Amino acid sequence: MADRRPLIAANWKMNKTIGEARSFCDELLPEVEDRGEEAAEVFICPPFLSLPLVAQLCAGTGIGVAGQNMYFEESGAFTGEVSAAMLLDAGATGVVLGHSERRQFFGETDEALARKVPVALDAGLLPILCVGESDEERERDETDQVLRRQVEAGLSGVPDDRLGGVVVAYEPIWAIGTGKTATAEQADDACGFIRSLVAARDTGAGELVRIQYGGSVKPANAEELLGQTEIDGALVGGAALDPEDFAAIVAAA
Ligand code: PEP
Repeated sequence: MADRRPLIAANWKMNKTIGEARSFCDELLPEVEDRGEEAAEVFICPPFLSLPLVAQLCAGTGIGVAGQNMYFEESGAFTGEVSAAMLLDAGATGVVLGHSERRQFFGETDEALARKVPVALDAGLLPILCVGESDEERERDETDQVLRRQVEAGLSGVPDDRLGGVVVAYEPIWAIGTGKTATAEQADDACGFIRSLVAARDTGAGELVRIQYGGSVKPANAEELLGQTEIDGALVGGAALDPEDFAAIVAAA
């Protein structure tokens, strides 16, 4: 079995001013920096405005910085968007794509994601593709169907030999920001199903691809969730706003 390095990412969403971002880093970095290749990889995903500062503060610490979105075109008349090159220039080494809040509130589509993921990869950014079912879809027993559609579409533009370089975050919508966590078994099953979808494209990539769980991960439940065989890390929202809580989740990995 491939030795997959867990990835713990802090998704700040639309939180923290530049000053607050600095205070967070001042508190967090001494707790999680320079932990070596054996320890979990750590990413912070700040809003675009504080991203350059966070990247500057994280430089040389082993902690990566990711954008929360990106457009697939290189440049042009796309008001409000940022490109892969702009993220790289600002110091990012990764990008979150297809977060359920972007799908729900900002019209992000599978078609757009099919273009964004390979553009991010080609630019040298680590793409974190988010997928997950709603409460109603789970109730209707459509979880696998939804995951299949989102994973197959999101990875459709990625060549088989590069699939292992993508991170997929399984984030059931009903567990995001609700305090309702998927059970370790539900999360492990869904992550295993996602892995099987990648393996159906390329067996080796199925072993390599890292699959995170996201949805109300906290210091109290991190160890159990992260101990599951199919779960290779966590995408953390609410608990990632507090440096102490986030450091505890990183320690649990
Ligand atoms: C997220 O924003 O991706 C997330 C999982 O949020 P929370 O941890 O607050 O549920």
